[in-house]
Amino acid sequence: MMCRHCQKVKSNRPRGLCWSCYYTPGVRAKFPSTSKFARRGVSDFTGQSRQVLQPTDALPGTPEKLAILEERARLGLSLWHPLDATLERMAQKRQAVA
Ligand SMILES: [Zn+2]
Repeated sequence: MMCRHCQKVKSNRPRGLCWSCYYTPGVRAKFPSTSKFARRGVSDFTGQSRQVLQPTDALPGTPEKLAILEERARLGLSLWHPLDATLERMAQKRQAVA
């Protein structure tokens, strides 16, 4: 297998890279580890996350809410929506119904 970056040299370093590419700053970051043990959690994203389109009715701390947060993180979306259900809002809703 040839180096995934320069395609010129036989790869002899992890991630399918050759020695010089592997140790060139920035190159490793472009080629995520191919080892399944290196994949932990969701990929990093900062700042520029996209706004969530749909608020959720799932209450904080519930498995439903956690699943939604996980899904949003996976998609690189902002984790919070201003209209997500909160315990306070839930209580207000209940009072309004009663
Ligand atoms: Zn290379």
